[in-house]
Amino acid sequence: MKQANIRNFAIIAHIDHGKSTLADQIMALTQTVSEREQHAQLLDDMAVEQAHGVTVKARTVRNFYHAEDGQEYEYNLIDTPGHVDFSYEVAKSLAATEGALLLVDATQGVQAQTIANYRIAKERHLPLIPVLNKVDMAAADIDAALAQLHDLDAAFTPEATLLISAKTGQGVPAVLEAIKDRLPAPSGATQAPLKALVFDSLYDPYQGVIAYVRLMDGQLKDQENLRLMQAGQSFKAKAIGTFTPNMHPQSRLTTGDVGYVVTGIKDPKQVRVGETLTAQAQPTPTPLAGYQPARPMVFAGLYPQSNDYPALKEAIQKLGLNDPSFSYTEERSEALGVGFRCGFLGAFHLQIIRERLHDEYGVDVLTTAPNVTYHVQLKNGQRMVVNNPVQFPAFSLIESVAEPFVQAAITMPSESLNAVLKLTEQHKGTLTDLGNQGDLVVATVKMPLSEVAYHFFSELKSVSHGFASLSTTFLDDEISDLVKIEVDMNYAPVDALAFVVHREDAPMMTQKLVGQLKVTVPRQLYPTPVQARVEGKVLARVDVPPLRKNAAVNGEAHSVSKKAALLRRQSANKRRATQNAVKLPQSVFNAILEL
Ligand code: GDP
Ligand code: MG
Repeated sequence: MKQANIRNFAIIAHIDHGKSTLADQIMALTQTVSEREQHAQLLDDMAVEQAHGVTVKARTVRNFYHAEDGQEYEYNLIDTPGHVDFSYEVAKSLAATEGALLLVDATQGVQAQTIANYRIAKERHLPLIPVLNKVDMAAADIDAALAQLHDLDAAFTPEATLLISAKTGQGVPAVLEAIKDRLPAPSGATQAPLKALVFDSLYDPYQGVIAYVRLMDGQLKDQENLRLMQAGQSFKAKAIGTFTPNMHPQSRLTTGDVGYVVTGIKDPKQVRVGETLTAQAQPTPTPLAGYQPARPMVFAGLYPQSNDYPALKEAIQKLGLNDPSFSYTEERSEALGVGFRCGFLGAFHLQIIRERLHDEYGVDVLTTAPNVTYHVQLKNGQRMVVNNPVQFPAFSLIESVAEPFVQAAITMPSESLNAVLKLTEQHKGTLTDLGNQGDLVVATVKMPLSEVAYHFFSELKSVSHGFASLSTTFLDDEISDLVKIEVDMNYAPVDALAFVVHREDAPMMTQKLVGQLKVTVPRQLYPTPVQARVEGKVLARVDVPPLRKNAAVNGEAHSVSKKAALLRRQSANKRRATQNAVKLPQSVFNAILEL
């Protein structure tokens, strides 16, 4: 394809505004996918994506478009995810494009993630085409949404904005025309040495890492000897090709093309997103500017539920290959045995991984309460990075503890403001700015990441009746007054139940926790004392009642000899039971999460 006829673009939008539906519609109109192959939401093929109706990983597909000017164009479309946990995938996709469609649901208007994605695109100076979707719906308020778009960017005039229904296809042909008219063809020199951006990757057990590439300069031939500049790794291209949306082999890719390279490399860490791929024979002198890799933000322990450690290990290793933003290291817990400490982009990512382990590998896991990364300054001058509450040092050794903070931009209708501000206060937020975006209010709040990472998003949805939306950016770590809560059962600490909280919350949390544990810890033959300690002091205690009546308390009705026999049996049971520690079900860990 002539370079002047290539367009590489993404669709960016708030979640549920219709990206995947529009992507499907574009594929259908360009006949990329035959009628027979079509089923709803073609790009969302992972089981979890179907279940949640959201896109987790960015997808790529090449379409051929016969334009009204009689020419044929190559449209490389990159579908991007919409959930807050995955905004780094959006930045990744945009690096490979020359422009994007900014899609807005006409029934909802401009939302927080619309604004966040708009800013990511603007930082890259990408041209944007504003598109208003769902105009077929009775609830669509087209005038209001047009005004909001114009407020967001003076260039988004009502004349510049396209009105469509991705569902019925109405207006979509005009979008296809606008892509070639309003987005630029890739620049870059075909005759220059090969310079390609690795913008995503996939692991295949037989072929190794498959790199998704965008050619910035030069050409790439099948079987060519290539080099990853940052990793300093050389390899021969086992196969190259384009996405249609399945992988389709080609003999050559050229400047501006988007496609894949089968590297044969077995270690995914060698093929990082943001890498520059070049030719061994004639390498480019200057690699592309680096790309910030995803940082895990939330950590939790994953343990096999049915003692099947080898199955869990295999599944986790395979998932790690497929999802480079998921990290893991082996760890051992006294209570749960051998498992993994895993890092996630956020709480939703954790849930996705759990579901993938179940759906794709048939492995059910116990998940400990998640935590963030703490930087601990010790009195002896040393510093510790703590990703696991078990390693949180004894309080007598600690000078100070710092935790990550985020700036949360919450966009909402003004009637939700009071409820939302109350919620952010409960989550230790400090309001730093209050502004307007058209009819919407935008509250900027500084909060500890630990307060945002778990339930905040769903609580926000609930207090605003679904209308508020959230986007976060990371700030520097700051010192907080944090303490470790340790839980004892039968007077022995259970390491896997330890967690870190703000000191002011400790009394209330420990009370609630023991109340929860009273009903979730499996009952034994004897009463199980459960206590929560902070800095060596027991703050709360409860006895989990026994399975059966206690002879010493309830045995009055029996004869002395019967009572003695019962007591003997009980003490034998007690001795046996203390040897086999209480087996903890997931509900016990959920009790901590629920606090
Ligand atoms: P994404 O999260 O941005 O990928 O959004 P989806 O494409 O998954 O769409 C979210 C929901 O909106 C789905 O139930 C779609 O069927 C629906 N939807 C998308 N576009 C339209 C449209 O133009 N009209 C109507 N009525 N529904 C739409
Ligand atoms: Mg989608």
